[in-house]
Amino acid sequence: MHPLLTRTDYLCQTDIGPKAQILDSNPDALAQALALLGQHDLLALKAFPSWQGVPIDALMFAQFQERLARSSGALAFLQTQHQSAGAMLANSDNRSLQADYLPKMANGEALVGIAFSHLRRVDNPPVTAIAVDDGQKINSYELNGYIPWITGSGIFQDFILAATLPDGSAVYGLLPFKSTTQSTGGSLLRGSLLLSEPMQLAAMNAAQTVTGNLNRWILPPERVVTIRPAGAMPASDRANVLSHSSFALGCAQAGLDWLLEMQQRKSFLVIGAIHTDLATELHTCRAEIEQALTNQDLKHHLTQNYEAQLSLRVWAIDLALRCTQAAVVASSGAANQSSHPANRLYREALVWSVAGQTPDVLAAALQRIAGRSTSMVSL
Ligand SMILES: Cc1cc2nc3c(=O)[nH]c(=O)nc-3n(C[C@H](O)[C@H](O)[C@H](O)COP(=O)(O)OP(=O)(O)OC[C@H]3O[C@@H](n4cnc5c(N)ncnc54)[C@H](O)[C@@H]3O)c2cc1C
Repeated sequence: MHPLLTRTDYLCQTDIGPKAQILDSNPDALAQALALLGQHDLLALKAFPSWQGVPIDALMFAQFQERLARSSGALAFLQTQHQSAGAMLANSDNRSLQADYLPKMANGEALVGIAFSHLRRVDNPPVTAIAVDDGQKINSYELNGYIPWITGSGIFQDFILAATLPDGSAVYGLLPFKSTTQSTGGSLLRGSLLLSEPMQLAAMNAAQTVTGNLNRWILPPERVVTIRPAGAMPASDRANVLSHSSFALGCAQAGLDWLLEMQQRKSFLVIGAIHTDLATELHTCRAEIEQALTNQDLKHHLTQNYEAQLSLRVWAIDLALRCTQAAVVASSGAANQSSHPANRLYREALVWSVAGQTPDVLAAALQRIAGRSTSMVSL
């Protein structure tokens, strides 16, 4: 087995998994678990092509994330925001930002969140940017609007925000992850970022997700990570349609782990056959996703068989929902307690069913729920 996965398995079994309940609700415990991943240099796996000298590809990263999601949804969710920020910084042309942040991201010395998903609201972008120039060159960008989702408040020090420019392109910049008023040396312009209190969510509360309001925030060029053309987000979503499926697979596996536990505790009930059926289905779904990820690496881009990949993504979501529901049902009334493992897993499945949701994923997931073919999705 890849040493990265061996290490991850060890951490999940000895530390993360046994604390899963507290990691769901306690931000300090979750921050400590993130720090543990940092101690093992596991926090910039998308930024660098290798871990301790061993290459990492898309499949390896997916298997890493599946293991985390199996052990703790909250930790898997929190760390993936930071990993995405690392990938974005690694692909930046801003060498100074790279030098400041990248060496500190693998071990968690620098912790960075993201706020990109609102870019998918293309018809009515909630965060906008305008270039402030002197007629010759752009001096900065002025950012305004409402940020609907930023995870990691109180844990991450900065976040990368995407804002839509008038031509539909998007500027990505680094902002401090705290409510801040900018001082502009006595000028009337005073930009501000105001963050909400953490939302009270059904699952993964410890990851501290907030909203934000930007009023005339000035993003100087030295804090710009990148600028991407109009349409880059849908294209990236399409190429990476499978990238979120590892979370759903890990959650489904965790549901089956609990079902097995119930089978052992309640051997007088008929649980084993259901576990076998679901485990077989999960094995098939995972194998097909892993095959697709292998092909993705060979081709570098997932441009072919998009519809097939979309079906696999919503199959994984469906399995997470069904396997965790099975865990609830097999646990009987006890699973109604919010502190119950099956209850947590079912709530985590709700998050994985919408995380990174695109219009196609939404439509295909609904069609699967309704028992219709996903080929009806408009592509
Ligand atoms: C607990 C939690 C934490 C999260 N944390 C983060 C985070 O840290 N960073 C981050 O970037 N995201 C985060 N998200 C966002 C997450 O990825 C989104 O749930 C997902 O992208 C769907 O977006 P939405 O829920 O805002 O729904 P909506 O904005 O309603 O979007 C649903 C779909 O409809 C389409 N759509 C919506 N409005 C329009 C429009 N006006 N024009 C055209 N199409 C439209 C979009 O393409 C989208 O795919 C978080 C979500 C949750 C639940």
